[in-house]
Amino acid sequence: MASHIVGYPRMGPKRELKFALESFWDGKSSAEDLKKVAADLRSSIWKQMSGAGIKYIPSNTFSYYDQVLDTTALLGAVPPRYGWAGGEIGFDTYFSMARGNASVPAMEMTKWFDTNYHFIVPELGPEVKFSYASHKAVDEYKEAKALGVDTVPVLVGPVSYLLLSKPAKGVDKTFSLLSLLDKILPIYKEVISDLKAAGASWIQFDEPTLVLDLDSQKLKAFSDAYAGLESALSGLNVLVETYFADVPAEAYKTLSSLKGVTAYGFDLVRGTKTLDLIKGDFPKGKYLFAGLVDGRNIWANDLAASVSTLEELAAVVGKDKLVVSTSCSLLHTAVDLVNETKLDNEIKSWLAFAAQKIVEVNALAKALAGEKDEAFFAANAGAHASRKSSPRVTNEAVQKAAAALKGSDHRRATNVSARLDAQQKKLNLPILPTTTIGSFPQTVELRRVRREYKANKISEEEYVKAIKEEISKVVKLQEELDIDVLVHGEPERNDMVEYFGEQLSGFAFTVNGWVQSYGSRCVKPPIIYGDVSRPKAMTVFWSTAAQSMTARPMKGMLTGPVTILNWSFVRVDQPRFETCYQIALAIKDEVEDLEKAGINVIQIDEAALREGLPLRKSEHAFYLDWSVHSFRITNCGVQDTTQIHTHMCYSNFNDIIQSIIDMDADVITIENSRSDEKLLSVFREGVKYGAGIGPGVYDIHSPRIPSTEEIADRINKMLAVLETNILWVNPDCGLKTRKYAEVNPALKNMVAAAKLLRTQL
Ligand code: GLN
Ligand code: ZN
Repeated sequence: MASHIVGYPRMGPKRELKFALESFWDGKSSAEDLKKVAADLRSSIWKQMSGAGIKYIPSNTFSYYDQVLDTTALLGAVPPRYGWAGGEIGFDTYFSMARGNASVPAMEMTKWFDTNYHFIVPELGPEVKFSYASHKAVDEYKEAKALGVDTVPVLVGPVSYLLLSKPAKGVDKTFSLLSLLDKILPIYKEVISDLKAAGASWIQFDEPTLVLDLDSQKLKAFSDAYAGLESALSGLNVLVETYFADVPAEAYKTLSSLKGVTAYGFDLVRGTKTLDLIKGDFPKGKYLFAGLVDGRNIWANDLAASVSTLEELAAVVGKDKLVVSTSCSLLHTAVDLVNETKLDNEIKSWLAFAAQKIVEVNALAKALAGEKDEAFFAANAGAHASRKSSPRVTNEAVQKAAAALKGSDHRRATNVSARLDAQQKKLNLPILPTTTIGSFPQTVELRRVRREYKANKISEEEYVKAIKEEISKVVKLQEELDIDVLVHGEPERNDMVEYFGEQLSGFAFTVNGWVQSYGSRCVKPPIIYGDVSRPKAMTVFWSTAAQSMTARPMKGMLTGPVTILNWSFVRVDQPRFETCYQIALAIKDEVEDLEKAGINVIQIDEAALREGLPLRKSEHAFYLDWSVHSFRITNCGVQDTTQIHTHMCYSNFNDIIQSIIDMDADVITIENSRSDEKLLSVFREGVKYGAGIGPGVYDIHSPRIPSTEEIADRINKMLAVLETNILWVNPDCGLKTRKYAEVNPALKNMVAAAKLLRTQL
């Protein structure tokens, strides 16, 4: 019985890599300094794994930015606009592709499957001249070897690489990315031969696209690719690793008959149906890497349950061919529980971050080999029992209320057009009403005030005074700009999920539980460990204070249940939808309290609803059903005259348009300006949309200030496909990352554009 780790977080236990990268980018430290921090991190990770007894330790899972970008570098597939002259790719070219430079924008970034990690999308066309331009994989293998650790080098597999790419701009529509397979395989062969020469005996290809809905032509590409590599791979043990979901039956057939492959890795946490496929038929004499330790969550493994699964699997493949592994790279979980100084011991005992998961993997392998660490298993069983019975986890009333929601429907009594009429009587808004998404710039001073209040350095009184002053500034500014529906600016919030989580029961917060989102950026998801309830009103105080400062409508500002769920580490002892319903009930209380307090417009952000969409189409309907239902629960009880807004941050909205309509919000504002055409095409194709809609008229991710003409032009395009009386005018998203010097002129032009068009309609 052996043990394996699919991949490991790169940032370091205290985000050492983040700080080293940012300091290098700012010109405050040298390339050598950065390389040193990176090498130290790699060395400590390898030593940690080998010290824990892991047999198959990955290398080349470190990255200065992203593993897909590393593969682009490996293949020399640098888009021409970066002016790369050939040779080994250095930091200049690499970081220009990742982040752009003074003259060229960055390559596109997109979400890595259904995680919150983002990768750099390769841009390929028939003209790309591939060359072996980064020796990182072999360098890291050698580096580990020099430290006395023989590793399994990891490469993004050739087919997944191509399937995750996009055709470069201007490339003919008939071009097929997979046609490049023959051109990239020679580079893969070169790196394989280098790795062999350096002494590698194993190699891992990550082919996570195998869990998607792939047609037969795409599946065939896998057969072709590995047949093409077969001779190069001879003499090596070859692991093809899949993760994030079940491998569909067809893909399983393809996978298990790949040439040259000797081992298969599966995510058995999310891919429970794969277990049946394995039990049904597993290729003789091949290794099974059983991903039982969850790489995407922070809960301690249920070791007893894992052992019994492993025993079943051992009966199928034989103990000598069974390897205990993680469900996916540990990149998607927090790094080390040791640094959590603020969590109490009970909650801590329920958790395992990456460093603890390594120990779990090894303990499982040992147990199966007959060397069970009884004390470790007993402690684990004790922790599970305590979690089950802890009064902090269970709240009977909440359980009952949430259970009562299942299978029922929740909708506002009146249809949206009648509601909009009732609201208009009360709000009396002009056509093309203007608004913003919620947050205003978060200044250094503002962050300081929040920090000092949290650290008890300033009194509650001082804090309230400072925040009220900030709100009043933001209100005045919006009045001066002549915006129609105002926001309070969210100065009291550090993060749109954390702010609510901190006030709800059932949530815990880490100090260092960071997870890489992209490049040097990390997020720190809250942990939902228990039944969720709302002890008291969360936003009423600030919203009513803000409303009292203006005669214009002030939007109440809440984060929706689905977004809170999708941006947290969620408990696994009950289905996700149950947790979501609980959060929905808590938000519903808040919505109703805001209404009672005289707030007539309430925005419930569902920024992350789309990103929770399951990877497989067969699971979409179920997810959309309960997530949209959860949203409706939050506001089904308000009066017709209360206007419910929602906001979503993504552009790819076409595939879930019916669900968005089904959310039954009165107004939706959506990120749009980077992909006008996509959104407009939905309406051009005749989708009926009767509620208010505000497709963002300018990109808040960029410091660029849009002109009045440009915004007017955008609005005109929308007016061509949408009814005049439902269109709203607003930016793409919240303004918190921008500076006032950008926000003031941009909003001024936005209002001017709306006013200009009003005179023309
Ligand atoms: N109301 C939030 C804000 O304006 C929404 C943020 C988001 O959509 N990500 O910041
Ligand atoms: Zn947004």
